[in-house]
Amino acid sequence: MESGMAHSRTSGTIEGMKRRGVCFVISAPSGAGKSTIANALRASEPHLLHSVSVTTRQPRPGEAEGVHYHFRTMDQFEDMAAKGELLEWATVFGRGYGTPRAPVEAALAAGQDMVFDIDWQGHQQIRQALPNDVVSLFVLPPSLQELERRLTSRASDHPDEIARRMAAARDEISHWQEFDHVVINKDLDRAIFEARSILTSGRLKTGRQTGLTDFIATFGA
Ligand code: 5GP
Repeated sequence: MESGMAHSRTSGTIEGMKRRGVCFVISAPSGAGKSTIANALRASEPHLLHSVSVTTRQPRPGEAEGVHYHFRTMDQFEDMAAKGELLEWATVFGRGYGTPRAPVEAALAAGQDMVFDIDWQGHQQIRQALPNDVVSLFVLPPSLQELERRLTSRASDHPDEIARRMAAARDEISHWQEFDHVVINKDLDRAIFEARSILTSGRLKTGRQTGLTDFIATFGA
């Protein structure tokens, strides 16, 4: 609940404590459960923002424009990238995916935390762009067999698409060491608890709490 507290600064009080928002990047192979985990975090913390990506892929059933993605043509996507409107972008499964820059910059400056459901390429770029703001998590499925079972039971993708995603899963997993944290999603409640703990820890980093110097001064230390 504390993430939305963009307090006015009243020097030396806990109420006046300020900090920049955290970029909480969650990556995983498709089907590992990262969207479920991100949704659970947001459900328990209404102030936690979600970065809505731009994509050139077609909406899946139930997906809404501006909620799950901003759905754009390849021309529109390339135009945004060329104008520098995307903080990062990558081609995944032959389609363009990218993070709009402006909402991220506004959120961080206002002390609001944001969750990013992006792939390893996006993580690398966002880390480079915002080296002090990123806390990253890689979610692993308990096994490749379980991943395939989850993708198949989701049934929103064609079998060809599932086969493509299984092949891509190994590639995505090969980047696990680039992330700050790894969670194995065997038990969903536990994985959510662990993800929340990582976010909390990121928020409390010494360098992130920009109001600390004034606060500490009240202790005469
Ligand atoms: P899906 O089509 O299943 O929604 O997403 C496919 C992949 O694209 C996922 O691994 C997802 O994390 C990644 N993705 C979604 N949005 C972005 C984005 O803005 N940037 C990057 N680099 N990857 C993204």
